[in-house]
Amino acid sequence: MEENLKRVREEIEKSREHSVTGEEVKLIAVTKTHGVDAIEEAIKLGVTDIGENKVQELTEKMDIIGDKVRYHMIGNLQSNKVKYIYRDVALIHSLDRLSLAKEIEKRAEQTDHIVPCLVQVNIGDEASKGGLAYDGVLPFLESILDYEHIKVEGLMAIAPNVEDEAYLRKLFRKMFALKEDIERRRYEGVHMNHLSMGMSNDFTIAIEEGANMVRVGSRIFGKRHY
Ligand SMILES: *Cc1c(COP(=O)(O)O)cnc(C)c1O
Repeated sequence: MEENLKRVREEIEKSREHSVTGEEVKLIAVTKTHGVDAIEEAIKLGVTDIGENKVQELTEKMDIIGDKVRYHMIGNLQSNKVKYIYRDVALIHSLDRLSLAKEIEKRAEQTDHIVPCLVQVNIGDEASKGGLAYDGVLPFLESILDYEHIKVEGLMAIAPNVEDEAYLRKLFRKMFALKEDIERRRYEGVHMNHLSMGMSNDFTIAIEEGANMVRVGSRIFGKRHY
């Protein structure tokens, strides 16, 4: 793991030097299916943020590991499970529908929390993936502007699992353009601080095209066994 992390960090840094923004890039180590021991080891190696895609797995790990690390909910989130995580996660990457926004707003209002979220975009237009259609993002954002307990902090996308680099680059570029467009509109309370895109197979391309948050699992922890 130490060697894997070192390589991933080196590649992140190298891509950042060629990126459209030159911005620092935050590494989210995706720990789904991996045990607490692996996470503890990653924390010792300097990992500060981990990503999980299932609520139950996330809460079990949070209970054991505690606040030594920040937790990111990166998977599809059912509304009825919001209550288990909204107080404890650093960022929900998968806000992609009004019913979910309503539930987060309702819960967070009751307990006086502010929940940082990214709006997920289905950039490859894939039926198998969550996320709003590209054209649906602005209307969605405008519809939740008065949700005072949701803090929109950026966008998230999962690119299609393809080898075609030119195609991936085009999609990542579209995401960056959308982020810039939203920034220019200066919606009150909306800040495009984070652009979360890029996984093990494509994070270098994503960074070059403007990602400042990458979610990397298998390149750090090895293959997942489900
Ligand atoms: C699993 C997962 C990742 C990490 O995938 P790797 O290919 O192992 O790096 C990133 N983002 C999301 C949303 C995931 O579910």
